[in-house]
Amino acid sequence: MEEKHISVAIDGPAAAGKSTVARRVAERLSFTYIDTGAMYRAVTLACIRAGLDPKDEGQAVSLLPSIQIEFDEAGRTLLNGEDVSEQIRQPLVSGNVSYIAAMKPIRLALVEMQRKMADSRSVVMDGRDIGTYVLPNAEVKVFQIASVETRAIRRYEENLQKGIPTSLEEVAADVRKRDYIDSHREFAPLKPAPDSVLLDTSFLSIEDSVEAVLRIVHEKTGVSPSC
Ligand code: C5P
Repeated sequence: MEEKHISVAIDGPAAAGKSTVARRVAERLSFTYIDTGAMYRAVTLACIRAGLDPKDEGQAVSLLPSIQIEFDEAGRTLLNGEDVSEQIRQPLVSGNVSYIAAMKPIRLALVEMQRKMADSRSVVMDGRDIGTYVLPNAEVKVFQIASVETRAIRRYEENLQKGIPTSLEEVAADVRKRDYIDSHREFAPLKPAPDSVLLDTSFLSIEDSVEAVLRIVHEKTGVSPSC
């Protein structure tokens, strides 16, 4: 009998800790983790590198045929074979990615890739529109939130650790700006799927958040961590 694949969708606003939680949940369940934000970031980086305006849809879309985005086994983001995992976290990319992500032709191209990735295996996929648009039939849908202050502090500390120079004020402004653009765009905006479970991690540690998601997965599917 063919093995049934399970999809876990984790959506939510910027810097809510989705990727850290999603990666650990995937490890515990032996599922594949897919960071869809990294894909929009990679397109943004390609656009900036090519000297194109990330707010100009015509220019950004013209790049699509020359862009290949993949994840290697360690979860690194590859843009045309080059590891760009660090470059895509730079403030210039963060500050422009929401313009790129609001462009329908770009979303359609990336969503097609995301659906293919989830087609043949069990995944934990995080983003903004996974439960509402990319994988509407996902067995598990979590909408992960935290207060804007908590999210800004978390992202600021993460940036410090990674050696990315930013101030707390800049990070808070970036988080607010991205949330606004992401939730107000016309096509596939950021919003909770009606059948998602709301998880507020403002006062939860990463480990507690991971355990909370694992409990939701178990309730919805009966699947328990393998480690
Ligand atoms: O998840 P992350 O914050 O890295 O995502 C970067 C940006 O990519 C978001 O602010 C949003 O504009 C866009 N995004 C999106 N849809 C997704 C994932 C990310 O629009 N599924």
